[in-house]
Amino acid sequence: MSETMWALTFDKDREDWDSSTGLVKEQIAVPKLDEPNGADRSNVIIRVQYAGFCGSDRGIWWRKSFGDMIQGSLADEGKSTRIVGHELLGEIVSMGSRVAPKYGYKTGDVVSTESHIVCGTCHQCRLGDYHVCARDKIIGISQDGCFAEYVKLPAKALWPTNVDLIRPEVAAIQEPFGNAVHACQVRDLRGKTVAVIGCGTIGLFAILIARGMGASKIIGVEPDPHHAELARRLGCDAVLTPGMPPEDEPWRSDPALREKVMELTDGIGVDVAMEMAGFNSALNNAIKITRRGGDVVLFGVKNGHAVVEDSHRVIMDGMQLHGVVGRQIFGTWEITRNLLETQSNGIQDAIWDVILNKGEGTLVDIDSWERNSFEQAIQNHPKVVIRFRG
Ligand SMILES: [Zn+2]
Ligand SMILES: [Zn+2]
Repeated sequence: MSETMWALTFDKDREDWDSSTGLVKEQIAVPKLDEPNGADRSNVIIRVQYAGFCGSDRGIWWRKSFGDMIQGSLADEGKSTRIVGHELLGEIVSMGSRVAPKYGYKTGDVVSTESHIVCGTCHQCRLGDYHVCARDKIIGISQDGCFAEYVKLPAKALWPTNVDLIRPEVAAIQEPFGNAVHACQVRDLRGKTVAVIGCGTIGLFAILIARGMGASKIIGVEPDPHHAELARRLGCDAVLTPGMPPEDEPWRSDPALREKVMELTDGIGVDVAMEMAGFNSALNNAIKITRRGGDVVLFGVKNGHAVVEDSHRVIMDGMQLHGVVGRQIFGTWEITRNLLETQSNGIQDAIWDVILNKGEGTLVDIDSWERNSFEQAIQNHPKVVIRFRG
């Protein structure tokens, strides 16, 4: 193994967070296991094959989110360079002494990883609710990530993956797919009408999953024509364009949208609405198009305050709002595996053919990685995968 490797990084001394964008491809030291450091006994080194570029990586690219977490964790570690990236498929190349006896891995095993490294001892972890660990760290944000040829990870976060059943480019994005699975786990969707508001990557996954889980009708809400077209190709029964809210009241829902949804649902409204856009108006659209007693799943993230229109209706109509974060560890991963390994539901093929466009423009080799063309790729496609060694 050579001493250095290619990685995509942010360096807080090299780049000013507020005035820069993008990531830098550079040679950096390969991580090593150092057994006297007790933690490394349970850590592994993974040779990365494919790494997915996430919405949160876009946030870092454009400096819209995670600046405080990255810079704060770098200060704690006393260094300046953060390797970004948290969605991966790779091969275990070396392991600490406790990994084989405790976790049963061997070198050569192919794994993906949960991106939230949980503490295991906080109140939530002790209850088994690891996805809401009070002290979790996120790979590629609060510790070095997988946009690199090698990454060091704790064995407890890994998820063994059978690449005979899931093609590697799709296996590399089990983590974000799992976000959508978790959102679809909130309610049993069998026979339900479902609206997906915001058909970005996670919304597009949610359409496939809701269908796979037996939803009877799926309505997409998406202003971008390219994404609306993808939503249609993935099997949405209808894709509606939301009207823009007035500039002075950006939180307003769109009454015309509600009317169209009512027409499509016999005047009832949807059973479950998933808010995956992250706009205040989308939150209100979600509430307004959901039936009495229905469920609104909140996944789109926006900092700051939000206005809830007709907030009394949430109570008087007996609605439930659910915030969804991360994936249940590892319950969501198990469902994710089954949905992807089951060929007959067409989900894996649809991800490859439609969302990943059969690799055309969405698969970027690290050897030819170049900042400007990569920026084009992440703007043209909902999901881009970086190939390190596949
Ligand atoms: Zn992600
Ligand atoms: Zn915890």
